[in-house]
Amino acid sequence: MSILLFAESQQGKLKKGSAELCSYGFALAQQQNTSLTIVTINCENVDQLTQYGASKLINLNVNVDYFEAHAYASALAEIAMVEQANIIVISSSADAKYMGGVLAGKLQAGYVTNVVELPSTSEPLTVKHAVFSNKAFAYTVLEGKVNIIGLANNVHEETTHSKSTDVHQQDAHMDIKCTQSSIEQIQGKATIADADVVVSGGRGLKGPENWGLIEDLADVLGAATACSKPVSDMGWRPHSEHVGQTGKPVATNLYIAVGISGAIQHLAGVNASKVKVVINTDPEAPFFKAADYGIVGDAFEVLPKLTEKLKART
Ligand SMILES: Cc1cc2nc3c(=O)[nH]c(=O)nc-3n(C[C@H](O)[C@H](O)[C@H](O)COP(=O)(O)OP(=O)(O)OC[C@H]3O[C@@H](n4cnc5c(N)ncnc54)[C@H](O)[C@@H]3O)c2cc1C
Repeated sequence: MSILLFAESQQGKLKKGSAELCSYGFALAQQQNTSLTIVTINCENVDQLTQYGASKLINLNVNVDYFEAHAYASALAEIAMVEQANIIVISSSADAKYMGGVLAGKLQAGYVTNVVELPSTSEPLTVKHAVFSNKAFAYTVLEGKVNIIGLANNVHEETTHSKSTDVHQQDAHMDIKCTQSSIEQIQGKATIADADVVVSGGRGLKGPENWGLIEDLADVLGAATACSKPVSDMGWRPHSEHVGQTGKPVATNLYIAVGISGAIQHLAGVNASKVKVVINTDPEAPFFKAADYGIVGDAFEVLPKLTEKLKART
């Protein structure tokens, strides 16, 4: 019996949230009175994960340099069997959710996503997880011989431990059924999933020609840009930036909403963010009720001043 944890990386670098995931994995291992093994794939900075109390860290060196759900699930299933893991911890990123379903199928495992804390009971294994776009919590009993916990973002404190971790580099060949020829990433742009800060614009920005204001603020903060649904529906911004219930979920440290009214469908997707700042001309805009900080003001006046002030500080 042991706990296996998969820490994702992208282009060789650990993804944001790995420290939180590993801290959770070790707390879970302590709760279950067992050991923790971390698995990474093609990761160049595994040393960063040796401070979270794991007994072992296996970095798989594989023949693909992009995420492939079925191949990754096969590799993890094999390691889970060798390590006799009864609980597998993964994140709740889009990639991890895709892979988690495949992995659960391979191992005939129980699987719950968006888990927000350590299991409330061990026998049976009962986990609390967010449902209905974070509007409610459910408790689910996992009854598999092996169970997979998909941890939500920003729910567990980061803690380090002095216990030493053995690092193993292991070569593996992945059986890929289809090959991605290349991935183009927009250089220097943070993605909504990985950014610490997201600057998001709504219909209050009046048109796509004004998005420079959002981008300037995002650039100075190293933030990703996002938008409300009507903005992407009208083609002002790409659909990949649409956040909310029917778009991407956002669970960042800081979410800045500009000219967004705060409709329930928008809030459903962003309310897991730690700090929410709202800029809106209408003091009655519903978003102010969900905000930690609010500026009642015109985006066209506030944004340039805010960007200028922040620039002066860097
Ligand atoms: C089934 C369903 C699913 C949906 N899913 C989503 C979703 O995933 N994500 C999503 O975002 N929406 C979603 N919607 C749409 C949602 O209900 C709202 O219509 C939408 O979020 C409103 O977008 P908005 O806030 O940009 O626009 P508006 O509601 O038009 O708000 C614009 C805001 O800008 C403010 N404003 C105007 N001028 C300025 C200015 N100069 N400076 C500052 N503020 C200004 C206004 O006071 C207003 O509050 C969904 C709707 C349905 C029915």
